[in-house]
Amino acid sequence: MSYVYRVVGNDKISLDDFDASADAELEREEAEAKTIKLIEELIELQSLLYAARRHSVLVVLQGRDTSGKDGVLRKVIGPLDSRGCDVSSFKVPSEEALAHDFLWRIHQQTPALGHIKIFNRSHYEDVLVVRVHNLVPEEVWRRRYDHINNFERLLADSGTVILKFYLHISKDEQEERLLEREKDSTKYWKLSVGDWKEREHWDYYTKAYEDAISHCSSEHAPWLIVPANKKWFRNLAIAHALRDALLPHKDHWLQTLEETGRRELQAIEEYRQKSKR
Ligand code: AMP
Ligand code: MG
Repeated sequence: MSYVYRVVGNDKISLDDFDASADAELEREEAEAKTIKLIEELIELQSLLYAARRHSVLVVLQGRDTSGKDGVLRKVIGPLDSRGCDVSSFKVPSEEALAHDFLWRIHQQTPALGHIKIFNRSHYEDVLVVRVHNLVPEEVWRRRYDHINNFERLLADSGTVILKFYLHISKDEQEERLLEREKDSTKYWKLSVGDWKEREHWDYYTKAYEDAISHCSSEHAPWLIVPANKKWFRNLAIAHALRDALLPHKDHWLQTLEETGRRELQAIEEYRQKSKR
């Protein structure tokens, strides 16, 4: 059972086929209770990941303006242990970044063994906003799908568990959320005329997302489409997918900890014997 749609292989997807308001027929309270339990499990799994240092985890968050990337960071990622988990936000690239290949600034932020890294936007902007606004010629952004696939293969081969979430909201929901921000002074800091301008390119973004998701999904770095019109369901879906991605490694991590523990106990024992002499 899964609350997200997992894209693997070169499935040609159409975002219209996915209901942004899907909620698996759960009630809000029920979903929130499940999410709390999943986050408890995640905290436990994170401590094993951190101690075993066999894998790292990369979570990519992508979605249109107001799709809820910040909400996921607060509600699902916030409770994790900050010693082993942090966020990199990718904004308009600096002059220095633009003087390098597009993955240069990204690669510097990938997670070390034992760590979880959340990308708040990512290298995918280089085939999304860059494409929609013609920031580089088509022959340049088109070649990036292969570069991205090779890059993610390299990370996966180096022990990184990769999950890429597309937060799927409808156009109406976006309008509601943008208008909501105008009514609430605590949300004023999020106001941006740019969001209304980007909204005019809604269909082109849809096309760019569909291509990115279709060209760059694999078993080792799947795209997961998250129904995100209901914030409480979005949080549940992401917590659930994360737990499901980490759980298969649990026994391996426990075994690693057991082995390193035994080695250290033996060293302590030998030390004690020696100091008795
Ligand atoms: P926000 O997520 O609201 O802080 O906005 C960050 C902005 O940076 C968004 O408008 C992104 O589209 C933009 N951005 C991120 N990566 C790139 C990139 N590689 N090229 C151009 N713009 C980008
Ligand atoms: Mg924004």
